[in-house]
Amino acid sequence: MNKIEHLGIAVKSLEESNVLFAKLLGTEHYKIEEVVSEGVRTSFFKSGPNKIELLEATKADSPIAKFLEKKGEGIHHIAFAVVDIKAEIDRLKEEGFKILNETPKKGADNKLVAFLHPKGTNGVLVELCQEIKEV
Ligand code: ZN
Repeated sequence: MNKIEHLGIAVKSLEESNVLFAKLLGTEHYKIEEVVSEGVRTSFFKSGPNKIELLEATKADSPIAKFLEKKGEGIHHIAFAVVDIKAEIDRLKEEGFKILNETPKKGADNKLVAFLHPKGTNGVLVELCQEIKEV
């Protein structure tokens, strides 16, 4: 695994949290992106070399809606950048981790993503993400 690519934070309202995080970080979000298949709307902030992703549910049965219901707002996942997501999934499977989606899917911010089950990672939802390269 490479560096931490971003931290994901679940929020009830993207509008309100965009204002809050702009004040906190001293910079506006640089994009908003909806991932329809995941029922989520995201916004991204830069803080120096680091990125923060805010996630808002767009439907009642989306994973973010369920997370908010159970745990409330807060840190939702840690995303690690990987060069070869398929190789990394194979490596982690070999190590006994449970992968939630073994076939990487298209996530926000032009990434292929896969998630590890938090039960196997001390309660932390881990996202692997690989930049999708233009061909
Ligand atoms: Zn993420």
